[in-house]
Amino acid sequence: MKDEFEFLDLGKEVELRGDTGLEFDVVVVGSGPGGGIVAEKAASVGLKVLVVEKGGWLNSAALPQNDSTAFSNFQSNLLLTTDSNLLGIITATTFGGSGAINWSACFPPQAYVRKEWAEQHGLKWIQSPEFQDCIDTVMKKIGASPPETQNHRNALLLEGARKLGYAAQPLHQNLQPGHNCGGCGWGCSGGPNGAHKLDPTRTTLLNAHKLGAKFAKGFEVERVLFQKDRNTVKGIFGHWTDPTTGHRTPVTVRAKRVVVSAGAINTPLILLRSRLSNYNIGRHLHLHPTCLITSTYPTLTHPQDGNILTCAVTEFENHLGTGYGTKLECLDMNLPFAFNAVPYSNPATFKAQLTMYKRQANHIVLLRDRTSGRVYPDPKTGGPKVAYDMSVEDTRNMIRGIIGLVRILYTQGALTIVVPICGLATYVRPSEVEEPASAGFENPSIATFIKKLEDYEKSGVVPWFSLGSAHAQGAARMGKSARDSVVDEWGRVWGKKGLYVADSGLLPSASGANPQVTTLALSERVARGLGNEVDAAVISKAKL
Ligand SMILES: Cc1cc2nc3c(=O)[nH]c(=O)nc-3n(C[C@H](O)[C@H](O)[C@H](O)COP(=O)(O)OP(=O)(O)OC[C@H]3O[C@@H](n4cnc5c(N)ncnc54)[C@H](O)[C@@H]3O)c2cc1C
Repeated sequence: MKDEFEFLDLGKEVELRGDTGLEFDVVVVGSGPGGGIVAEKAASVGLKVLVVEKGGWLNSAALPQNDSTAFSNFQSNLLLTTDSNLLGIITATTFGGSGAINWSACFPPQAYVRKEWAEQHGLKWIQSPEFQDCIDTVMKKIGASPPETQNHRNALLLEGARKLGYAAQPLHQNLQPGHNCGGCGWGCSGGPNGAHKLDPTRTTLLNAHKLGAKFAKGFEVERVLFQKDRNTVKGIFGHWTDPTTGHRTPVTVRAKRVVVSAGAINTPLILLRSRLSNYNIGRHLHLHPTCLITSTYPTLTHPQDGNILTCAVTEFENHLGTGYGTKLECLDMNLPFAFNAVPYSNPATFKAQLTMYKRQANHIVLLRDRTSGRVYPDPKTGGPKVAYDMSVEDTRNMIRGIIGLVRILYTQGALTIVVPICGLATYVRPSEVEEPASAGFENPSIATFIKKLEDYEKSGVVPWFSLGSAHAQGAARMGKSARDSVVDEWGRVWGKKGLYVADSGLLPSASGANPQVTTLALSERVARGLGNEVDAAVISKAKL
């Protein structure tokens, strides 16, 4: 693998040019999918671009990561939880953002969600050929293509859904042809045949680099700076950490435009630290809570083989036409994820479960949450705190999805099924003699297990769930007015000249689908708007 990028030594730059000597046309804060799209566009219209990223770079020297070293590439070392400890939140802190470690599923925004955003959020263009062109463009940019194969647990999901008559579909992947490693959840090292995942470092950021954009890693932006009028952007301030000495240098970069693309958890914090007062900043945060279901089988499941997430069961996504519900998908089988929801009762049973790893498959029930929460700064550390609790409606939808998944896994011959609800014992399949497979859901053991889940569904109350989230979104959302949103429909922060947001924070509500394509498409539109502004400025200057 060729390591194409060069990163600025900001310690030297500051020494050379003084504290405020660095100047660019645009600073992009954060190098995830959203930031990459804007950086490429801004560089392509001739702007002098700097992309700053607080994390490091998973280049060939850093890869492959292992289960212990990988944690440092995530926000709060993978330990960010909601205030109520309901959910653990995963988001990457590395060059390429979560785009560099995600599971490559490319799920374009769905018709019913686009309709909701057009009708309920006033964003009519979301149902237009113009926005479809944004989606098509980003799908092409990231090389999204149909999956070449389905590994054991994805095939199991598709086949179980087929047998039960549930709606399901394969998902496009942003992978080079032949990529089949199954391990890029900790960063893609290309696998045995050298075919890579097409993350931002291999697509948009690389194109931006070729167009002359500059990059700085280890640079944590604290706040956006404004002119004396307090409304016109002047640049950014943050700290750059020297990768060899660990020394932190305060750095100011002057720029007429700042695009905040730090992700839905961090973008609101930067805006709040910059003393913006819009009530909506940090609110309307959606998390797509996921419940992780572990099952085991009589034969080998090859958990580390094949691409991670290549299909989705969509049967439960739109409960009674409300637009809300769940999708059933697959989980990365890296060990910390694979055993995350296995209950610990005593050393012997836990050890027995670990020995089943080669016969194990993990799936997720992914909820489109109507519930919204809030991200706000920890008063002590300034880091993210998340207030979020799930509504009864969302809890019921989650349980409906769990029941659907349990039916699929049982149909596909699961020997055990762990649903991580406190007090719910692991489902253990009796022998074929005791309960013949031909009796299906009439078998007393599975009927009793499903009945318990149905009771939770009816009450809408669950004693304790083990839930996770890899899809933070909203919290700097797009809308028609400052009363209910943070940015306008071109990603411009209300009331601030030269300040934009382009990342998963833009989503007006939960996407329901894995959000990288929606994030990219909305960011593409922000990038086009910025490009048009630059073109218009050039034309009006030429006329003078
Ligand atoms: C484990 C996992 C698996 C996923 N799988 C899929 C999938 O298969 N399909 C899919 O569609 N989606 C998936 N997602 C979600 C998807 O990756 C994200 O929605 C997407 O990456 C969000 O892009 P973004 O541009 O908003 O921000 P991010 O990708 O979060 O990038 C933001 C970047 O900004 C940096 N940053 C933050 N604060 C600062 C600061 N103060 N100064 C400088 N830099 C800063 C961060 O370090 C980070 O690199 C997955 C996510 C995770 C975590």
